[in-house]
Amino acid sequence: MTEEQAERNLLTGSCHCGAVRITLPVMPTVATKCNCSICRRLGGIWAYFELGTVQFEGHPEHTTDYIWGDKTLRIIRCRHCGCATHWEPLDGVLGARHGVNLNNFDPALQARVKIRHFDGAETWTFIDT
Ligand SMILES: [Zn+2]
Repeated sequence: MTEEQAERNLLTGSCHCGAVRITLPVMPTVATKCNCSICRRLGGIWAYFELGTVQFEGHPEHTTDYIWGDKTLRIIRCRHCGCATHWEPLDGVLGARHGVNLNNFDPALQARVKIRHFDGAETWTFIDT
C-alpha cells in the first residue's frame, strides 16, 4: 500500500457494527473534546466539516438522533450499535459547521490530530494547558 492509499484509508471510518460508514473529505488537523453535559457522556472527539462535504453511507436508514435543550442540533447515532457518529445543525444548511466523531476511525487518525479541550460546561472556551 502506498502512503497515499494509507492516508485515504484513514479517512474512512464506521460505527461499531458497520451499518454507518463515514468518509471525510480531507485529513483533519484539529478536533475538540468537550466537557458539556452531552459530550462528556458520549466521549466524542469532534472534528468539524462543512455540512455536505462528509460522505455518509447508511445514514439516515440506520441512524437515529437525539435533540434536546435549545434544539439547534441533533446528535446522530447508529440505531443498531449505538455509536454516536456525528452531529449536525437542525436547519441542515449546507456549508454550516457540523461535527464528526473521530472515535469511529482508526486510532492512527486521532494520533495525527491535535485534540483540543473545550469547556462547554462552564466558560465556553478552550482549556488547553
Ligand atoms: Zn452501528
